[in-house]
Amino acid sequence: MIPFNKAPYVEGAEQYVLDVIKSRHLMGDGPYTIKDQEILEEKTNCRKVFLTHTGTDALEFACLLADIGPGDEVIVPSFTFPTTAACITLFHGTPVFIDCHKETMAIDETKIEAAITERTKAIMVMHYAGVGCEMEKICEIAKEHGLLVIEDAAQVLGAKWNGKALGTFGDIGCISFHQTKNYTMGEGGAIFINNPDLIDRAYILRDSGTNAYAFEQGLVPAYTWVDKGSSYMPSELQAAYLYPQMLKFDEINKDRVKSFWSYYEKLKDLKETGKLDLPFVPKQAEINGHMFYVKTKDFDEMNALRKYLKSKDIYASFHYQPLHSAKAGRMFGRFVGEDINTTAESRRILRLPMFYGLTEEEITEVANAIHEFYNKQGDTTK
Ligand SMILES: *Cc1c(COP(=O)(O)O)cnc(C)c1O
Repeated sequence: MIPFNKAPYVEGAEQYVLDVIKSRHLMGDGPYTIKDQEILEEKTNCRKVFLTHTGTDALEFACLLADIGPGDEVIVPSFTFPTTAACITLFHGTPVFIDCHKETMAIDETKIEAAITERTKAIMVMHYAGVGCEMEKICEIAKEHGLLVIEDAAQVLGAKWNGKALGTFGDIGCISFHQTKNYTMGEGGAIFINNPDLIDRAYILRDSGTNAYAFEQGLVPAYTWVDKGSSYMPSELQAAYLYPQMLKFDEINKDRVKSFWSYYEKLKDLKETGKLDLPFVPKQAEINGHMFYVKTKDFDEMNALRKYLKSKDIYASFHYQPLHSAKAGRMFGRFVGEDINTTAESRRILRLPMFYGLTEEEITEVANAIHEFYNKQGDTTK
C-alpha cells in the first residue's frame, strides 16, 4: 500500500516531547517554541515568526493584524483552500475572487488591478504546490494602491522565488504545519511578520490583546488588556515535535524535491505524448517538493485514474474546487473577470503520494501504474 501522506517523523522526536512532559512546562512560548521560531527566522530571513495553532489560525491572525472589517474587500484567488477566504468573512470582509494561471495555478497578477475598488484593503495570494506567485509584480501593484499583501504560504515553507523565501515578500506570511505539509506539528502553523511596523502589535494580538510581553520585558509596571486579540500560541508539546524537523530543515526539503523530480522524470514521456500535463516550474522558482500532481484530460479521466490507482492500493487525491462557485463563496464573495482557468484546470488535477521518506521504488510503482492506465486506455480506443 502506498498512502497519499504520512506525517514527517524524525528519529528521536519522542525524546523532545518527553523532555517537555518532564519539564512541567507545557504552555506556549517555552524553549522549543523559541528555538523553532529562531530557526524559521534564520532559514527564511523573516523579521519575526510566531508559531500558531494551525495555518488557518495564522490566516485569521493576519486578518486581525490587517484590521479587516465589515465591507473591506480582499482580493484572493478562487483556486485555493477554503480558509484563505473564510478568514476574511470571519471579520465580515468580502473575498473578491480572481482567476489563476493555467501553468502554475498561481493567482493571475494581471487580473488584480481590475478587481481593486476603494474598499480594497489587501491582496491575499496563495502559493500552490511549492511554486511562488509573481511576487515582485504583486507587491508593486499593492504599493501603488496602498494595499497590504498577505501570503498564504501554507504549503511553501522552504521554497523560494528569485532567491527569496516565500512568505517573506508580503507584509504578512502564513505557514501551515498540518500533517500533510512538509514539516508538521500534527496541527500547527506560523505567522511571518515582515512589515516591521506590525511586529509590536502582533505581540499584543497573539497574547489575548494584552501587553504581557512588554511587561515581561520590564517596559510596563503591570500588564492589562490594551487591544483586540486572541490566543494563538501552541503548546510546547507541539513545538517539541516540530523541533527535530527544524534541525533537519534542509534534509527534509531535499528529500521531497528529489521525489518531485523523480516523479517528473518517470512521467515526462506521458507529457511528451500529450497524455497528461505535469507541474510547471518557472525559472524564478526554487520548489520545496510539497506536492506532485498530474493534470489529466478532464474530470472524468482524473477520477478514472484515481480509482485505477486505488485498485492498485495507491492513494492519489484530487484538489481544491473553485471557491467562487461554492455555496459559501457565492454567499460571501464575488468573482471579478473571467473564469478561464480556475474551474477548467482545477478539475484536471490529481495529486500523487508525497511525503518525507517516499522511496524510489514507491515512485516507480506509482509511475508504472499510471503508464498502465494510459496503455489500457489506448487499447480500448483501438
Ligand atoms: C494547508 C493549507 C491551509 C490550512 O492550514 P491548516 O494548518 O490546515 O489550518 C491553508 N491554505 C493552504 C493553501 C493550505 O495548503
